[in-house]
Amino acid sequence: MKLRMLFLAAGLLVFYLVIRRWPDPQTRAAPSPLHQTGFARHLLARGAWPSYEAPTGHIHFRSGSHTARTTNSISHAVDSARSVVLGFLQLRDTQPIEVFFVDSREQMQQLVGRPLGGMVQSGERTALLVYNESYTPFLVHELTHLYTHHHWGQPRAGRWLSEGLAALVSGDCQGFSIDAVVKGLHERGQLRTWQELMRDFEKIDELSANPQAASMVGFIHSRGGMAAVRAAWLAESWQPDPGFEAAWLARVKAEPAGALLDVPRLRDHGCVG
Ligand SMILES: [Zn+2]
Repeated sequence: MKLRMLFLAAGLLVFYLVIRRWPDPQTRAAPSPLHQTGFARHLLARGAWPSYEAPTGHIHFRSGSHTARTTNSISHAVDSARSVVLGFLQLRDTQPIEVFFVDSREQMQQLVGRPLGGMVQSGERTALLVYNESYTPFLVHELTHLYTHHHWGQPRAGRWLSEGLAALVSGDCQGFSIDAVVKGLHERGQLRTWQELMRDFEKIDELSANPQAASMVGFIHSRGGMAAVRAAWLAESWQPDPGFEAAWLARVKAEPAGALLDVPRLRDHGCVG
């Protein structure tokens, strides 16, 4: 029962990547050229969104929201997340993006039918995130999805590569490194083999699956840099080099201490709070 509750809680954390197409709503006004994609249009058709121009593109929010009160700091945060992501991915991209913020998971539920922390529509230059005074948005995570899918499409190797890379670029969570969290999984007997993780990613609870995927992508990155990660992403079918998994496991075991994330805090505050 306890485990079930944990999985339920985990389901609420999700940083999601929607594959299906949004229905094309009849927007009331002609959208500007930046708002042409389906997901942005879907959102803009649902209530009023004051917006402003930031260095990265447009930031949209609700009247009276936390974003409305912190326009300066959030626009810096988006700009710096964008630099971190493009730097890590070694991509050049100066085209504008559309970033939408809501105050709560409840508002997210009303908009997209799930109480997500953040999401992007694969291939589109639009992100939607929860942000309030106690919840740090997963900007780096979602912008990694946005730019990778826009430039490279969906990874044929599976969603583990996409979630793993987004978590890897995001880095520490609650002050713990990814490998410390993965060492904790190992200590509790929750690590999967690479084959299992790649095959069963959708079935494994994300609190185990995402950190392990991040650690695996981190290992690929440590061996061959961004070029190796990108090659795995673009490959028709990808398999690790012989000896990869054993070397990775040895690295996990060599971590000084295992860590366990505080799930309720993660759900309510994000990785930083
Ligand atoms: Zn994600």
